[in-house]
Amino acid sequence: MSTQVRRLRLTPEHRAVSPYLEVGFELPREAESLEVALRYDRSAGVVDLGCRGPALFRGWSGGARSSFVVGRHRSTPGYLAGPLDAGPWAVVLGLHRVPFDWLDVELAITVPAESAVPSDPTPPPVPERRPRRDLPAPDGLTWLAADFHTHTVHSDGQLTVPELAARGVAAGLDLLAVTDHNTVSHHPELPAAAARYRIGLLPGQELTTDRGHANAFGDIGWVDFRRPADDWLTRVRDAGGLLSVNHPLASDHGWQHPLSERPPLAEVWHWTWLDRRWSGPLAWWAAWGSATVPVGGSDFHRPDQGRPIGQPVTWVACAEIGDPADRPAVVLAALAAGRTAISAAYDAPVLLRVEDELVAVAATAPRCWTSRGGAASCVARSRGSPARRDRIGSRRHWPRSSRSAPDQAGRHSCNLGGRVGTGPNTATIRVEVARMSGVLASSRPTFVQPRREGGDRAEHRHHSHRSCAYVGSLGVDSAP
Ligand SMILES: [Zn+2]
Ligand SMILES: [Zn+2]
Repeated sequence: MSTQVRRLRLTPEHRAVSPYLEVGFELPREAESLEVALRYDRSAGVVDLGCRGPALFRGWSGGARSSFVVGRHRSTPGYLAGPLDAGPWAVVLGLHRVPFDWLDVELAITVPAESAVPSDPTPPPVPERRPRRDLPAPDGLTWLAADFHTHTVHSDGQLTVPELAARGVAAGLDLLAVTDHNTVSHHPELPAAAARYRIGLLPGQELTTDRGHANAFGDIGWVDFRRPADDWLTRVRDAGGLLSVNHPLASDHGWQHPLSERPPLAEVWHWTWLDRRWSGPLAWWAAWGSATVPVGGSDFHRPDQGRPIGQPVTWVACAEIGDPADRPAVVLAALAAGRTAISAAYDAPVLLRVEDELVAVAATAPRCWTSRGGAASCVARSRGSPARRDRIGSRRHWPRSSRSAPDQAGRHSCNLGGRVGTGPNTATIRVEVARMSGVLASSRPTFVQPRREGGDRAEHRHHSHRSCAYVGSLGVDSAP
């Protein structure tokens, strides 16, 4: 066994050159494993930890660990197991916070590893699944419940992949995206857990930098988070995946990367949207562009944080429920087509696009704003009661803004948002379900184009398949 100790004095000048610093070392032939330990004063700065081999990036643990093992057969979660090629390796340091003067850092690199990788805990039993929520859907499609943002022990989460899958099933979810930070070491575990717990597990990775986070969805291999965000977009698209801007307004993790093109998805609803009277996320979304497909994510890390898995739920209208093994592909296709809606929780009110209607489900006796004439219609359904249809406006009568006050008796109201004229025969509408405490569901701004002028029977069509996504909201006050 040999240990080499490297001492570095990190300064803001290092950080100015690059937020990543490689500390190289040579690995001899036939090494079975290696171990890296990082020491520094954690009250003075934040240094992230990762590792690359001669050909492969071997893993990342960010600020969650101070040591790791990479081995031929087992590695610390977050790092890939496999043969250790001889040649130039490097510990990759992320200079997240470097103090104004300097930060002394000590790295110990030991070959072979001295510590053993602990064995995995016994997987939990398979919990009972909640009955699938019966939601009206367009012909041939079914709304599946998904959470597109979760973490495990492979980054800074607390649960193993099987433990996470079990919680997803208990929450009624059909699919979880497992999006550990800057690593894909959890991907090999997903198929077995999906089969055991009968839940779709979509391979994901959260590209995590101090200028913003983005989820890359799909079994597309590792994406280099150290590259510019434009490269993420190209790399993910070329590999057949989908990129999503995460929590764009979340404190110091907000989105700041320049992009020459918008990614297909954005996480417009993240747990950090705590006060749903705050319209910031909806305003960001409107400014970013309504062609962006909305998704939601709990960003679940650990049970004791009080941010449960599946809050919010993203509903995805899929061509088939599919076997858990096939579900990631089915859901990716539905995401690419923009067929999403978001609700605060599994049972919360949700606004769904069904053919050319917007359906509010589980909004207690919602009242819809109406006007004479009408193109788009809104179907308001209370639980257990027959559908009630109210027109919500016509092209000739779109109000600039129309808002019916939320009912004091605790009912919801449906509000028709202002119009945006886009041509002589077109308009954009947005619909909300709201209570005094704030927005409960908001449709995506929807572009409608009447086929015929005037008349109650004027039909409309949605401008593109992308127009059929709705963000359903918050649900602090979900229907009793
Ligand atoms: Zn994040
Ligand atoms: Zn996250």
